Amino acid sequence: MYRRDFIKVSAAAAAAAALSPALVSCGGSAGGKKKAGKGGPLKMSYYPYVVELQHTFTISGFSRDTTTVLLVEIEYDGVTGYGEAALPPYMVGQTLETASAFLDKVDLSQFSDPFEMDEILGYVDSLAEGMSCPKCGIDIALHDLVGKLLDKPLYKIWGYNGNNTPDTSFTIGMDTKEVIIQKTNEAEPYNILKVKLGSTEAEDKMIVETIREVTDKPIVVDANQGWKDKFYALDMICWLKEKGVKFVEQPMPKTIYDDMAWVTERSPLPTIADESCQRLVDIRKLYGVFTGINIKLLKCTGLREAHRMVETARGLGMMLMIGCTTETSCAVSAMAQLAPVVDFADLDGNLLISNDCFSGMRIVNGKITLNDLPGIGVTKL
Ligand code: MG
Repeated sequence: MYRRDFIKVSAAAAAAAALSPALVSCGGSAGGKKKAGKGGPLKMSYYPYVVELQHTFTISGFSRDTTTVLLVEIEYDGVTGYGEAALPPYMVGQTLETASAFLDKVDLSQFSDPFEMDEILGYVDSLAEGMSCPKCGIDIALHDLVGKLLDKPLYKIWGYNGNNTPDTSFTIGMDTKEVIIQKTNEAEPYNILKVKLGSTEAEDKMIVETIREVTDKPIVVDANQGWKDKFYALDMICWLKEKGVKFVEQPMPKTIYDDMAWVTERSPLPTIADESCQRLVDIRKLYGVFTGINIKLLKCTGLREAHRMVETARGLGMMLMIGCTTETSCAVSAMAQLAPVVDFADLDGNLLISNDCFSGMRIVNGKITLNDLPGIGVTKL
């Protein structure tokens, strides 16, 4: 469904809901009691929350035990939409202070129709360069709100079959051999393992060989820009192919295009852009350079743009992956709404934390499993 049609349908449904309160019902625990009313201005609030990780998480360049997130709520007509803006260290310049300062600038009280999403989110995006994380928090909350007002999950509003979801990969960070064995065993419920490489050749090969001592499950690799030379990157990819690896994410530094295109042309495995692919506008530079793109809400400002990226990449015949960071089930469930149309999903961010404050999409036998709750499908715990 095109967005203008979606908005048209949304507006029609909203009008129907206003006329017929019986058409709209939504559990309080899933986001507030719905009642027909006059609406009034949108009300936004936010608060910080520190997400605790089960294991210290190390990727090429960073190591951490917690992630600070900002939880965003938008209220309209007695209904609350939930959103989340995680602030991982690699989103440089987006800290608790700067993201809060951005949210303080946002005045949603000038809007009294949440279905005017394009205008509202266009206004939010125009307030500052960058700041994709807090923009994402607002975007998710607004999408959740609109889904609740329509009493439908977003994936259904978009016309997707909720059963067509892929398995998620489960991430194993860089670690010692003993910890990698332990983490691989802990990953027993998952069907695909994701490993973080991009260190020395000896270290990278040790990680993959250690996992192969424990399991023959498919592995996907994220090098996080760690390989600097195109010949080395191609050699590593060929070696990984022999080890049962399915694709390699961001083998080389994000602004290297010519060498990356050279690698992709010769690579026996698909290459997926992550750090190279932030927003919709980047896709034109990546066509012919990578096989596919990894979409993350945090990078692209949220579901509005993520949905456009899906359509654009599909139109170019590129592969699609969705990812997340270590965050609660709020943001992960929002991203999962697009799972029915992607090739690969890495939605384990909520599984790696110990203090989730939402329940939402679940992983059942390794597969992303969407529920029928409206909006992003979450319940606040
Ligand atoms: Mg990545």
